[in-house]
Amino acid sequence: MKTIFLDRDGVINKEVEYLHKIKDFQFIEGVFSSCKYLQKLGFNLIIITNQSGIGRGYYTKQDFNILNNWMLNQFKSQNINILDVLYCPHKPEDNCKCRKPKTGMLQIANKKYNVDKKKSWLIGDKESDIEAANSFGIANTILVKNGHKIDERYNKASFITSSIKHINDFIKL
Ligand SMILES: [Mg+2]
Ligand SMILES: [Zn+2]
Repeated sequence: MKTIFLDRDGVINKEVEYLHKIKDFQFIEGVFSSCKYLQKLGFNLIIITNQSGIGRGYYTKQDFNILNNWMLNQFKSQNINILDVLYCPHKPEDNCKCRKPKTGMLQIANKKYNVDKKKSWLIGDKESDIEAANSFGIANTILVKNGHKIDERYNKASFITSSIKHINDFIKL
């Protein structure tokens, strides 16, 4: 199935270091309209997110789940269905297979949902998001600039834009 992989922090919500509280979670402007647009085009939406704050002991899996369920309900109330949320709880030193730029989460999604890599996209705000997509063979990538500072010269994304708000400039039927 054709899928849009979304990073969470810096793409869906404003980047806050080790975010884990509902009160600190702020949706980025335009995220609901963009997700509705993508749904209308027939894409499934899957979130893949590095959450090393869990491995570092800054918050627990339960904290993550509480915030995640709240976020999914916000999407639901806008008639947006997020098919799945995959997260990596490890810290970099754990050398797991799922922390982006590694492709573990994409592999799991592919096993579950049989992703059409050529028709799918990944939207991220870090080079490691784009790298994961490129290593896995997701054909199309968009780097949004509202999260981290980006050196555009070395960027390997298909497209760069300021925010998820503008992805309809690139993703069309
Ligand atoms: Mg991010
Ligand atoms: Zn991991």
